[in-house]
Amino acid sequence: MILDAGIDLHTHSTFSDGSLAPTDLVERAVLAGIGMLALTDHDTIAGVEEARLAAGRLGIRLVPGVEISATWRHQSIHVLGLWIDPASQRLQSVLDGQAERRRERMRRICAKLSRTGLPGDALLAAVESCPGLPTRSHLAAALVAGGHVKREEDAFRKFLGAGKPGHVAPEWPPLAEVVTAIRNAGGIASMAHPLRYRLSSGARGRLLSEFAEAGGSAIEVITGVNGAQHAHACAALARKFGLRASIGSDFHHPQLAWNPLGRLAKLPGGIEPVWRGPEP
Ligand code: AMP
Ligand code: MN
Ligand code: MN
Ligand code: MN
Repeated sequence: MILDAGIDLHTHSTFSDGSLAPTDLVERAVLAGIGMLALTDHDTIAGVEEARLAAGRLGIRLVPGVEISATWRHQSIHVLGLWIDPASQRLQSVLDGQAERRRERMRRICAKLSRTGLPGDALLAAVESCPGLPTRSHLAAALVAGGHVKREEDAFRKFLGAGKPGHVAPEWPPLAEVVTAIRNAGGIASMAHPLRYRLSSGARGRLLSEFAEAGGSAIEVITGVNGAQHAHACAALARKFGLRASIGSDFHHPQLAWNPLGRLAKLPGGIEPVWRGPEP
């Protein structure tokens, strides 16, 4: 039985908006005492093979994963696909669509930023020169590098967040479609950071019941460094909607203290963990 402390099912690499290459991420995971690691880049599985090779060399288990953006009632919702088959053609075609949506969205955001007087073309070029699939994190980093804001959070607060001049409404596929794509690839769909969406508790309940109805099987009960109260609230939701539990740091950068790789609290009792693998 693997200890909870040795499991991290939500991490990013340079294939999306993380700053470590998959090999470096896996090496760091080993140093953090992790025995089971999922690489879950935003809308891409391009880093999974490198991570799998590194994990094989270092003797830890690599869970092939992805964090797919979906739309539910005009909100972006992140769904983790865990234990997906990286060779699934149907999943790959969904991810190809996501990549095109991300590139197009970035062009639209930068065009909007140009209208506010920011150098949209230069910002777009900076994002496009990054190795990973473009995310708003890359753009936030470019805004910091260009001296337009001090920190990445400020970029979201001033320009990129909802209602701000660089905001573009999400056009991701519907939640149910994303869950189906994950299941068709043999994976478990787990809703990432369920308390991070701006929803009333009634709306959150409808989201989770539609997610379960569509074939979603788990929620992240422990995310990042959120405390026991957060875990208990998520555990209550898992029980209420008949969902299992996953845990993950949402690690992006070694220098950020809020999402240290693998330093996670214990899962509350009475809920079923996902890490026994996909349902039969
Ligand atoms: P995207 O999927 O392109 O919309 O980008 C979302 C990513 O931006 C998330 O996965 C986070 O890594 C990052 N992000 C979102 N909101 C913030 C914020 N307020 N401050 C810093 N990073 C953020
Ligand atoms: Mn991210
Ligand atoms: Mn997320
Ligand atoms: Mn994430």
